Order: sequence, then C-alpha cells, then structure tokens
Amino acid sequence: MDDIRVIIPAAGHGTRMGGDTPKLLLEIAGKTVIERTLEKFAGQNFQIVLVTNEELKSTMQEITKQKFPMENITVITGGSSRTESVRNGFRSLENLSPQTKILIHDGARCLISNEEIDAVIDTLNSCECCTVATPLKNTIKKIRKIEDKTTVEETPNRADFMEVQTPQGFIADAFSKCAESQIEATDDTAIAEQLGMEVVLVPGKYSNIKITTPEDVFFADAIIKQESLRSE
Ligand code: C5P
Repeated sequence: MDDIRVIIPAAGHGTRMGGDTPKLLLEIAGKTVIERTLEKFAGQNFQIVLVTNEELKSTMQEITKQKFPMENITVITGGSSRTESVRNGFRSLENLSPQTKILIHDGARCLISNEEIDAVIDTLNSCECCTVATPLKNTIKKIRKIEDKTTVEETPNRADFMEVQTPQGFIADAFSKCAESQIEATDDTAIAEQLGMEVVLVPGKYSNIKITTPEDVFFADAIIKQESLRSE
C-alpha cells in the first residue's frame, strides 16, 4: 500500500471573507468547512497534518478529536505565509521514504472529490510533482498600474493557461528540495517549477472552489445540495 501523507494548510486569516467567524469554521449545509475538507481524506489510512494558526489551534484539536477519532491527524502551527505553513507541515512528517507521496490540499477547498484525490495519487506513480488544474473560463488581462489608474498591458491567449487548484502532489524527495529553498509562492508547484522540476497537470473539476469570499459559501451550499440529490 502507498505511504500517503496529507498536509492541509489552514492557517490563513481569511481576511477576504470578512465577518467574525473564521472561514474554516463557517457552516455549509450543516458542517464546518474544515470538517468537510478533512472528511474527504478520512478513512484511507493517510497521515494528515492540519496546519492552523495559534488562535484556532485548540478549536481545531477539538474538532479532530471529536469528529475524526479514528484518524491519524496532527494539528500544528503554521507560518506567516502559505508557503511557510506548508513547510512547517512537511518538517513535522517523520519516517518518510524518498517515494512517500505528499498531498497538499487547501483547508478551504472542501468540495474536492475522491476522483481528483485518486487522480493525483495515481499521477505520482509516474512523476515527481503534479497538481489538479482546470481550463480558464474567463479571459485574463496583464495589467499595468500607474498611480490610481489601472490599464491593460496585454491579453494573452486563454488557451495557453490553466487555473491550478489543490491537491498538489509531490514525491517526498522532490518536496524536500522545495522545502529547503527560500522561494515563496501562492502554490507549491510554482516552487518546484522554479527549481526546474516538471509539473504534470491533472484534469480537475470546476466545483473544487476555494472558500474565499462570501458568495463562495452560497456556491458551495448549492453544489453540496445538488451532489446529495444526485446520490439519493
Ligand atoms: O491565501 P490563500 O487563499 O491562497 O490560502 C490558501 C490556503 O492556505 C488556505 O486554506 C489558508 O488557510 C492557507 N494559509 C496558511 N497559512 C498562511 C496563509 C494561508 O496555511 N499563512
């Protein structure tokens, strides 16, 4: 059986969400975001590291103890950036072999499907680094900001771009090189790429949204309700 470890960065402060409740503790269709994310990785013998911030640590420990008593989940403290939080998560892992599979999944992406998780795990049989990605729905503009004016510099061809999500997968040997580097990025494969590694893209689903702004809560609620109707 594969040795699989899952790092869940969940140490952000969710400032784009606003409100008093931390976004990972918002309830969507009766369950918190973080509970929904964790349950996608539960029951599969994975070692899970939940990386949180100091303020939420005891709440997260309580959630994992109450809701996932049979799972191997450790809760640790993250850093001031996503990259730092993921590195803390990686450093906490013990007894890794070079081929151990490391999955990194945003705590805020609670709609990930088992198919996408399995596809990332399978893809790691033939590469050292991969991520789920979807084609762009919108056209992207490269912008230029001069004082208070924002204008368009150029419009790249949409077909040349993909939007990446998580899980992002690494063979432990490859991730340890990323963890040793000082590079900061908004996603982990960007670090691998800058170190010259090949990053393989795995087809993802548009439903794998990251709960970021208030309307995402409504979208997620609708997707969950539609999925539960389909499985009835
Ligand atoms: O900021 P962004 O939306 O890209 O964050 C993606 C994920 O990384 C979120 O689940 C967030 O909680 C996590 N994060 C973290 N440590 C930080 C900042 C963000 O674990 N310092």
